Amino acid sequence: MRLIGITGGIGMGKTTVSNYLATTHHFPIVDADLIARDAVAIGSPILSQIVDRYGSKLIRLDGTLDRSRLGTIIFSDAAERAWLEQQIHPHVRHVFETERLRATVPSVFVIPLLFEAEMTDLVTEIWVISCSEQQQLQRLMQREKLSREQAEARIQSQMPIQEKRDRADVVLENSTSLEALLNQVDQAVDRQS
Ligand code: ATP
Repeated sequence: MRLIGITGGIGMGKTTVSNYLATTHHFPIVDADLIARDAVAIGSPILSQIVDRYGSKLIRLDGTLDRSRLGTIIFSDAAERAWLEQQIHPHVRHVFETERLRATVPSVFVIPLLFEAEMTDLVTEIWVISCSEQQQLQRLMQREKLSREQAEARIQSQMPIQEKRDRADVVLENSTSLEALLNQVDQAVDRQS
């Protein structure tokens, strides 16, 4: 079964590509970010562990995790990031393993940390979405309203994009227009079907 793993640097265009694959090419999408959000839902064991470690100041009035405050902690401290990932990644992997066994049609797995979390075995081909680091920084600062320093810290927490490109089956260049990106997606879809 064809299972496409979408990855790339933060803010480089993974969601743009996966939305297009869903709407235009009708692929089912399984998104690691959504699984990771579920993993810290109200009442989850991982949310309790987070509160035990950092205190209830990370819980908003409605009982949900304040992801932005957690982000500030983990993107300024690699050891804390590693701790959090140890809690969440096994759950994410388990859900993908289940989805892989269940898949009856070609599907897309969006896994931002596909390489970092060693999840390459979950998919049959790897597409890396890539843009210049300058564009990445600008897109990230604009969308997340982050300072330059905060955006740079998030970028540097990931594997360098060149290493990801080297390990990809397909590299999609997202340095120019949306149309140019989507044309490459169309070609990549056709490469094996
Ligand atoms: P994250 O890693 O944070 O989940 P992502 O890799 O999913 O991000 P997107 O959300 O697809 O990236 O894109 C990041 C931002 O850049 C979005 O605001 C998106 O609209 C914009 N963007 C993506 N590609 C282009 C493009 N070719 N031209 C202009 N803007 C773009």
